[in-house]
Amino acid sequence: MNKPKLVLQLLSLEFVHLRIMKKIELNGIQDSLKSAKNICIIGHKNPDGDALGSTLALSHLLAKQGKNTVVIMPNSYPDFLNWMPGNDQILIYDKDAEKCEENLSGADLIFTLDFNHLDRTGRLGDFLKTLDKTFVMIDHHQSPDDYAKFQLVDTMVGSTCELIYDFIEVLDQKQSLDQDISTCLYTGIMTDSGSFRFPLTSSKTHRIIADLIDHGANNSKIHRDTFDNNSYSRLQLLGRALQNLKVIEALNTAYISLSQADLDEFNFKKGDTEGFVNYGLSLKGIKFAVIFIESKQENIIKISFRSKGDFDVNTFARKHYDGGGHKNAAGGKSNLALDETLIKFEEIIQQYKSDLL
Ligand code: 5GP
Ligand code: MN
Repeated sequence: MNKPKLVLQLLSLEFVHLRIMKKIELNGIQDSLKSAKNICIIGHKNPDGDALGSTLALSHLLAKQGKNTVVIMPNSYPDFLNWMPGNDQILIYDKDAEKCEENLSGADLIFTLDFNHLDRTGRLGDFLKTLDKTFVMIDHHQSPDDYAKFQLVDTMVGSTCELIYDFIEVLDQKQSLDQDISTCLYTGIMTDSGSFRFPLTSSKTHRIIADLIDHGANNSKIHRDTFDNNSYSRLQLLGRALQNLKVIEALNTAYISLSQADLDEFNFKKGDTEGFVNYGLSLKGIKFAVIFIESKQENIIKISFRSKGDFDVNTFARKHYDGGGHKNAAGGKSNLALDETLIKFEEIIQQYKSDLL
C-alpha cells in the first residue's frame, strides 16, 4: 500500500529539482554557497513586491546559515512596499552607489532575483557588467540573458518568491522557514499573482501559501499593509485615471493615459499608479488594457500592458515598445510625446484585430 506513495513522493521531489534547475547546477550552486562568505542579492529597478519579497527572504535564509548578506535595489520604491522584515537594511544604488559598489566588489557570490537582463537594473547594471563574479539568476521571465553561471528559471511559475520557496526545498533548508522569510515570500506571491487570481496561480501556489501561513505569515496583516495604505491624493489620481480611460470597443482594448500635469496635480509619489492598469482589464469584454504615464524627468512615456487570455503582451511590448515581461503582463516605453504615443498606439493595434476579437 505504501510503496506507490513513496515512488510518487520521490518522483515529485525529482520533479521539483528538474523544474528549476539541472541537478548538476544544483551541485555547483551548493558548492559555491558553501564556500561563499559575502553574498549580495539584487532586485530589479522599480522593485515590486516580488523583487523585494524574494531578495529579503533569500537574505534571511542565507544569514541564518552564517553568511554576510546585503540586499541591493537599483532605486527606491513606494511606501506600500517598505515594511517587509529586513527592509531597513536594504541598500539603494541611486542613493549610496559607493557603499553598494564596495559590497559588490567584496562579494563571493551575487544573486539576481526577479529579472534576467542586467539592463533591468539601470545604472547599477553598468557597474555589474564590469565585475568578474559568479552570478546566480532566479527568475520567472522569458528570454534570459547569459550573464549568470547558474540559472533557476521557470516561466510557468507566477512569482520569483515561489521559486525561492522551491530553492529552499531543494537546498533541504525547510527547517529554516520562519516568520520573516514566510512574510516576505507570502507578499511576493500575493502581489505577483494579483492576490491569487492570475492564471499561473496553481494548487501548488496555494499549498506553498498554506505552508507560509503555518510558518507565521499573517495573511490578513500582509494584505492590509500592502493594499490598505492609500493616501487621499492617490485615490484622487485614480479618479483622474478612470476619467481618462478610453475604450476601443472594436478591438476589445482599453487604455488610460496620465500626463505629467495630472501627476503633478495630485502630488504623485512613486508607486501611486501601481495597479491602475488593471481597471481597464476589469471592464466586461476587454482583453487588452494599457496605461501610458508621462515622465518629464526621464523624458519617456512609461507603459504597462495587461491582457486576458491568448493575447501575448510580452511579444507586443518587445516588438513595439522596447520592453518585455510575461504573456499577460509586460512593460515598455515610448520616446514620443504623450499625444503622439497614443495616436501611434491606436494605429499599431489595428494590425492585431484578429488576435483581439
Ligand atoms: P509593470 O507593467 O508592472 O511595470 O511590469 C509588468 C511586467 O513587465 C513585470 O514582470 C516587469 O518585470 C516587466 N517589465 C516592465 N517594464 C519592462 C521593461 O521596460 N522591459 C522589460 N524587459 N520588462 C519590463
Ligand atoms: Mn516577479
